[in-house]
Amino acid sequence: MIPYGRQDITEEDVQSVLTALKSDFLTQGPYAPRFEQAIAQHVGARHALAVNSATSALHIACLALGLGPGDWLWTTPITFVASANCGLYCGAKVDFVDIDPNTYNLCPQALETKLQQAERQGCLPKVVVPVHLAGQSCDMEAIHALAQRYGFKIIEDASHAVGGKYQGEFVGNCRYSDITVFSFHPVKIVTTAEGGLALTNDDLLAEKMALLRSHGVTRDTALMTHETHGPWYYQQVALGYNYRMTELQAALGCSQLTRLDQYVARRHELAKRYDELLQDLPLRTPWQHPDTYSGLHLYIIRLKLKELKSNRRAVFEALRSREIGVNVHYIPVHTQPYYREMGFTDGQFPQAEQYYAEAISLPMYPLLTDAEQDQVVAALSSALA
Ligand SMILES: *Cc1c(COP(=O)(O)O)cnc(C)c1O
Repeated sequence: MIPYGRQDITEEDVQSVLTALKSDFLTQGPYAPRFEQAIAQHVGARHALAVNSATSALHIACLALGLGPGDWLWTTPITFVASANCGLYCGAKVDFVDIDPNTYNLCPQALETKLQQAERQGCLPKVVVPVHLAGQSCDMEAIHALAQRYGFKIIEDASHAVGGKYQGEFVGNCRYSDITVFSFHPVKIVTTAEGGLALTNDDLLAEKMALLRSHGVTRDTALMTHETHGPWYYQQVALGYNYRMTELQAALGCSQLTRLDQYVARRHELAKRYDELLQDLPLRTPWQHPDTYSGLHLYIIRLKLKELKSNRRAVFEALRSREIGVNVHYIPVHTQPYYREMGFTDGQFPQAEQYYAEAISLPMYPLLTDAEQDQVVAALSSALA
């Protein structure tokens, strides 16, 4: 089976992890800060906090921004469930904004319309989570302008966009957001097995997230509320979690990071080949906004169902039967049973639902060879014939 995504682990990666494994520290050693610094420097952000998953990063990002019961978090329905669940973890309510039919990202116009309604009804969101689907940045300048006007905070879910750019600058620099989150799950651009990261330029948010990642406990006397008892003393000043990244993960991340630009460049080569090889088939290849340089975590096609006798399911099954590990990103979150229980129904976000009916993710990862890609295209051509 040719999978839709897969990690690349080199001998250098193995050596890096072994060095960490044989060192004095398996957790809370030098690798995690080194990994954080390397990423912060690469994207141009002041602070980076490594954690055990992007889901954890989203959670502590919401908490640091003060999201709680009675507040609203809005995100896109076309994302992994974690982008919405982080609001529920904090006791907040979650709602969705429909997608742009060209980029499949959260639509700034739909956001503005929904904000106008929410303002009239007195239920404006506290946090909005734009998700850079497939690695292409959302229209962050427009979303940021709305944040200024309506007073919400922005967490960019850039799980797909590590190494991507917006307006010529790396995603993660938080120019148009309060916090940006990366994921290092093995299918993503670079991996730490499990792992995530929160980036911010705000010193106070960084301090809060650092506390929340490690039990709310500090040894920093400046953060303590009472006198210290002695050199052994630590204080718990908030209710935190254990969301720390291990040294083994961070060592893998440090090593992987040296190949980030190379990985994204190879993904672009593959995307260009797909664009050319698929141009005569009854489908839409991904459209890239000129302001963006995608991380290209995913290559998503949309079937032109009206030109097909077949449907998405049949095409999907035909590809799987030919050992092509296609996937669908994503089932709209509001249609998940857990969200239906909260009252969401079909038809609420028509662009997202239309997209879902037509989308298929083709194999896309740096080690995919041209020959394997040709195999994918041949299988797809015959499935659509
Ligand atoms: C993968 C992913 C997450 C969750 O990442 P983990 O590191 O697995 O917790 C969140 N949001 C999006 C959009 C993702 O693709």
